[in-house]
Amino acid sequence: TYIVTDNCIACKYTDCVEVCPVDCFYEGENMLVIHPDECIDCGVCEPECPAEAIKPDTESGLDEWLALNTKFAAAW
Ligand code: SF4
Repeated sequence: TYIVTDNCIACKYTDCVEVCPVDCFYEGENMLVIHPDECIDCGVCEPECPAEAIKPDTESGLDEWLALNTKFAAAW
């Protein structure tokens, strides 16, 4: 899955939402999140993010962000 991280906070762009083929972006408290079970790992959103907030879960140190994405996405 891909994960939305801190650079997204207070970002007003929704370029990522528009390109996602499976509509797995959701609104979190002050940022967008990706539903980890719905993301098909296509990677299309990553270069579209002007804030460089979207990262693959293969990157290290993102456990807390993954938990946050999971939590906010599950609230929908
Ligand atoms: Fe959507 Fe693809 Fe980004 Fe996953 S990697 S959130 S499926 S655009």
